[in-house]
Amino acid sequence: MTTTALALTKVRNIGIMAHIDAGKTTTAERILFYTGVSHRIGEVHDGDTALDFTKQERDRGITITSAATTCRWTVEDAAGGEHTINLIDTPGHVDFTIEVERCLRVLDGAVAVFDGVAGVEPQSETVWRQADRYGVPRICFVNKLDRAGADFARCVEMIRERLGAVPLVVQLPIGTEAGFEGVVDLVSGRAHVWPEGRHAVVDVPSGMAEDVRRWRGRLIEAVAEHDEEVMALYVGGAEPSQERLHAAIRRLTVASAATPVLCGSAFRNKGVEPLLDAVVRYLPSPLDAAPQVGDAPEAALEEAPLSALAFKIMSDRHLGRLTFVRIYTGRLAAGASVFNSVKERKERIGKVYRVHADRREEIASAGAGDIVAVMGLKQTTTGETLCDAAHPVVLESMDFPDPVIEVAIEPRSKADRERLSTAIQRLSEEDPSFQVHDEDGQTVIGGMGELHLEILVDRMREVFDVEANVGRPRVAYRETIRAAVERVELTHRKQSGGKGQFAKVLISVEPIEDGYEFVNRVTGGRIPKEFIPSVDAGCQDAMSTGVLAGYEMTGVRVTLLDGDFHPVDSSELAFRIAGSLAFGEAVRRASPVLLEPVMTVEATAPEEHLGAVIGDLNARRGRIEGTGERAGARVVHALVPLSEMFGYVGHLRGMTSGRGVFTMQFAAYAEVPASVARTLVPG
Ligand code: GDP
Repeated sequence: MTTTALALTKVRNIGIMAHIDAGKTTTAERILFYTGVSHRIGEVHDGDTALDFTKQERDRGITITSAATTCRWTVEDAAGGEHTINLIDTPGHVDFTIEVERCLRVLDGAVAVFDGVAGVEPQSETVWRQADRYGVPRICFVNKLDRAGADFARCVEMIRERLGAVPLVVQLPIGTEAGFEGVVDLVSGRAHVWPEGRHAVVDVPSGMAEDVRRWRGRLIEAVAEHDEEVMALYVGGAEPSQERLHAAIRRLTVASAATPVLCGSAFRNKGVEPLLDAVVRYLPSPLDAAPQVGDAPEAALEEAPLSALAFKIMSDRHLGRLTFVRIYTGRLAAGASVFNSVKERKERIGKVYRVHADRREEIASAGAGDIVAVMGLKQTTTGETLCDAAHPVVLESMDFPDPVIEVAIEPRSKADRERLSTAIQRLSEEDPSFQVHDEDGQTVIGGMGELHLEILVDRMREVFDVEANVGRPRVAYRETIRAAVERVELTHRKQSGGKGQFAKVLISVEPIEDGYEFVNRVTGGRIPKEFIPSVDAGCQDAMSTGVLAGYEMTGVRVTLLDGDFHPVDSSELAFRIAGSLAFGEAVRRASPVLLEPVMTVEATAPEEHLGAVIGDLNARRGRIEGTGERAGARVVHALVPLSEMFGYVGHLRGMTSGRGVFTMQFAAYAEVPASVARTLVPG
């Protein structure tokens, strides 16, 4: 067992983000290989990579569960030698944007991988905007330059135009497509090539001297524009030194003012070592990302009381519960007692591990800036803060969007029902973005998309041995009201021999944007204070089952105006029932309507299929927002109700001879048209 005290300036907590298929997994895999974590190169298409380690991921060839893994990298000419890189694998599928957000929250920097042929794809834009929101500094890696149709310069333009980023081109490709050999580092003016798979640093090929001069000039100009020091040199006609340029690029990157752009082919093992150099050189350390604390920020962070965020929980059939934690301040030690400030509960840290893909190294403790996995936490779930009980803090928690799609699960036996309830409890700790409710005795789980639910169900079967009949995925409709209704009076009275029930309430309801609000206007003790929360609870009970078709309600404000009570017969229960009944009555009169999730759809297809794709989206009640062009194909932007999008993948492929692709994301809830609503509302 080792005690690790990492020099914070030598730590990089980074993620790799990308559109699915851009090569994120391959790039991560190569990083692990070159840093010595894995000893052979696993290929994604063999379903055998170190980072994608759950079975569903292997089967599907995509990354879903974010795993944290630690590796080390030394840059020869950079100060400080060996650096520790904690690599967080972020999922690429849009159904899992919530996982992406969760990862971004704990990263100090990221590598955005792009497909050198397709360029900036819709999902890359989504993830990029999320990273903007969290202020995560980024390096771009234009991958797949060995593929036919790869175009580095076009990708750089797309990064500028589509993402609104300030690209700093720090590398030029040597050759392209089948002739792609390596990259020129514009800062050092040296070429990196891989003859027979071995990395070599050589002179720039003579034919490229002019290109290199021109692009280096552009790089210096771009840096000078944002950096006084380099500007002064530039104006004076002097060349900035390599160190000065590195430092200036780092400052701009750390401040998210610009993003260095590199290139390569992860698959052909070209460009990965210089990418690792760039991670160390340009991306921030935890210290850069932390608010400055006096003169000795590093010591201060380490000596401060513990604050850490649990950002990922994985349950393993053999090992049980493993919690991935980002430590912001202080130290986290094996055996220590910590305080969960969200649940207000003490927890004991069992073992602390540094995780190297699927291998774990037990350590005694870890300090500020680090990312480790912890065993032994029982109550803590994703997004919660662990801290020192004497200095409680709550780190900013995460918001989870509502699930838009759901599926009913019916366990086969009584034992399956028990296993299902364990599975649900464990899985919801891992993934707070799915929800569960009971509907006519059936268990219904809601999630972010078809694939999300499919994976949850797979995990229930495989990890928890749940045998169950699973219904077809269906849309999570909602209900809301369109009108305000004033002063609905309701008296709940029940006389049954002994103690009766009595509660009287007077409420108003009105539409609000979304969610639920409760306002109490009762004065003079007309309803005793202790019963007010019961009325609120009753209204919330009624919110969960709408009056039209039993869907959950949203967008209602209730105002409790007045009421009455009985000194003997009034109770919490009586007021809860009265609240619920009054709410139902008021909502029935407030023009209730059904809402459905509407999705932003981007379908890409060759020109000759454009008409068919648009016609089909129209037939799906879609509203075409516009069309554009991307990488030689046409893109259709549309808003389409989710209920019309089931099975669209296959349909689009059929219409476009297999060449169409699409992405879909939740946009908003919108009113279901009356003609459609008739088929959904019973009676
Ligand atoms: P992810 O979905 O972003 O994780 O992408 P993967 O790493 O799974 O890669 C998707 C596919 O592209 C796989 O079949 C890879 O073998 C392939 N691929 C990845 N990088 C490259 C590359 O640099 N060149 C070529 N030609 N193929 C690549």
